[in-house]
Amino acid sequence: MVLQSVKKTKRGVTLPPASLILCSIHYVYIEIDHKSGFCYGVVRAIQTAEQMLDAGELFSLGEIVHNDRELDRLKKKGLQVLSYDGLATLRDKKVLIRAHGEPPETYRTARDRRLTIVDCTCPVVLKLQERIKACYAELKTQNGQLLIFGKRGHAEVNGLIGQLGGDALVVENVAQLDAVDFSRPVRLFSQTTNSPQAFRALCEAVKARMHPGVSFEASNTICGQVAGRQPQLAAFAARHDVVLFVSGRKSSNGQVLFAACRSANPRSYLIEDAGEIEAGWFTACRSVGVCGATSTPKWLMEEVAATVANREDIP
Ligand code: SF4
Repeated sequence: MVLQSVKKTKRGVTLPPASLILCSIHYVYIEIDHKSGFCYGVVRAIQTAEQMLDAGELFSLGEIVHNDRELDRLKKKGLQVLSYDGLATLRDKKVLIRAHGEPPETYRTARDRRLTIVDCTCPVVLKLQERIKACYAELKTQNGQLLIFGKRGHAEVNGLIGQLGGDALVVENVAQLDAVDFSRPVRLFSQTTNSPQAFRALCEAVKARMHPGVSFEASNTICGQVAGRQPQLAAFAARHDVVLFVSGRKSSNGQVLFAACRSANPRSYLIEDAGEIEAGWFTACRSVGVCGATSTPKWLMEEVAATVANREDIP
């Protein structure tokens, strides 16, 4: 176990971890999950943004990361967040495409407006866009349907269906499968940040409804950075009395990963920042785990851990 922050400064002392184990009746152990935090795609987008901001003006099409605190930090450095309407009126500027990716329409608009694109589409998403495009071309010859298991309106999903001119069915859960014609071939893909268990359940539900002899193929395209974190986070949550999961509420992978914590430890709380911590959560608590989503900055988890360590009203 990594003890990142273990002192209760109201007592005016800081003890090394070994002493704290002996004195644990008075002290709360706080561990920050060292595997939580930005995924590769988000790190790449943020580092690129910071480099570009050092050199001058930069716009981001949509929020570069689903975390208001991190976004505020980047805005203070000069990042300007642009809406799609804003893109259509901008000219001769630099615009960053975030890790979620974009449909071809966005690139056309940027060309028309003489914008310089700084493309930070995550390579994992880019590969998925290409796979979907290739599959769609083949499916068209078989009168088939392409299904995407994802959140309607999510930027990544918009980027995916944009590759197909919008000709795909987006389903968020088993209940939405009624829109599928099971007498025609079906190919199923997933948004990269979905839950692997939910994807498996959806596959089974489609399989059960397919008409005899009609083909169905599913491709598990959930990102390894999300899928791998679920069991690891569940194990982390299970070994603490209380878990503080730090994430923007808009983050899809945040919701999936928080569900993994919650199922392993009912005393798991989703917070956007330290200001949401409630003292009542820590009754009879000897250890606190702090973890987060792929869009949660490390510094924010550290801030949360420090708040638990320092707040006078936390038992
Ligand atoms: S979760 Fe995976 S696919 Fe999505 S941005 Fe991060 S690394 Fe890329």
